[in-house]
Amino acid sequence: MGWKTLDEMDLAGKTVLTRVDINVPVDNGRVTDTTRIDRIVPTVEAILSAGGKPMLIAHFGRPKGKVVDAMSLRQIVPALESALGHTVQFIETLEGAEAMTEEARAAEVLLMENIRFYPGEEANDPDFAARIAGLGDIYCNDAFSAAHRAHASTEAIARLLPCCAGRLMQAELQALEKALGAPKRPVAAVVGGAKVSTKLDLLGNLVGKVDKLVIGGGMANTFLAAQGLSVGKSLCEHEMADTAREIMAKAGAAGCEIILPSDVVIAKDFKAGAPSETVPAHACPDDAMILDAGAGSIARINAAFEASQTLIWNGPLGAFEIEPFDTATNAAAAHAAALTRTGKLTSVAGGGDTVAALNQAGAAEAFTYISTAGGAFLEWMEGKALPGVEALNT
Ligand code: AMP
Repeated sequence: MGWKTLDEMDLAGKTVLTRVDINVPVDNGRVTDTTRIDRIVPTVEAILSAGGKPMLIAHFGRPKGKVVDAMSLRQIVPALESALGHTVQFIETLEGAEAMTEEARAAEVLLMENIRFYPGEEANDPDFAARIAGLGDIYCNDAFSAAHRAHASTEAIARLLPCCAGRLMQAELQALEKALGAPKRPVAAVVGGAKVSTKLDLLGNLVGKVDKLVIGGGMANTFLAAQGLSVGKSLCEHEMADTAREIMAKAGAAGCEIILPSDVVIAKDFKAGAPSETVPAHACPDDAMILDAGAGSIARINAAFEASQTLIWNGPLGAFEIEPFDTATNAAAAHAAALTRTGKLTSVAGGGDTVAALNQAGAAEAFTYISTAGGAFLEWMEGKALPGVEALNT
């Protein structure tokens, strides 16, 4: 890892331009979920206790380079102040920040207005990055969830100042490195969710890296169909059959065992409480659909976890929002959580619905690390370089 942590920087008396993700949900001017704000507290504290002055830089919504009042970060200030326990000085414009004297910086923590109000941000404009860089002495990136974007405040700026990763970025990168960079083997991965087509790069990367790959959810149907099994009226991308076979061949060549459902829970309707039954994976009738993995499959998945030291999880094993089709996701998540608690398994999960599914299963707490970064986590799992992380490497 070529990036520095806050501990390796001399922050005393320095203004630390700190890129954070505080893109929180807001309803009528009130923050309804403060998770993202809470997660930046350790970074802000670390800067303050080292004698630095954090100037927070963040985006909020998608204003596309224009000033949109409804997307002002001003409305986040009260929630930020209460999470940090410090007063926060809001800086409305870049010009205002540039004109600000040391004395005018009254508060311990400064917050810049939504950086995406400026077109230079998403354009990764070097001149715009230089203007932001001019506001401080050190750049700290704590927004892993924005690291898959090459924007001025995530990428270009890192090349202009001494830079480091914030606490959250550091935790995220260390967890990911432990899971896929230099993991304890054997490594198992779960990839579930609706469609193969949205997770092609992910599957392609994982079969070359993990020892066992559990494929679940709607995308497992595509693999079953590609093996010649009938999947009735299940969610299935029949046109992806060749791709599914290629992934299986690549896995075979790499020594990666693919675990597909051997039994499935079927129903005639996609609705809560619909009458359902478990049948072998080859026995889905024409008028039924596969909505979850069966008990035999769950046992095989659990056995794969037991035989592994590391687990990476993205996506549900069934239509988990609807009972009883959350059974396989809940059971496997609970088993992974139990193995993690005993210290036998390092478990890392993230991306989209995964956090919701593991929360619903009551397993999230026990996992070694849950990434709240959707797109960035997936791109990292796909083996892609993240511009915001690359730029921190010195
Ligand atoms: P994704 O966003 O690709 O991770 O997919 C998650 C969605 O896939 C969830 O809304 C699940 O309900 C859905 N899903 C998982 N398994 C199935 C299935 N067998 N049939 C239909 N939808 C499913």
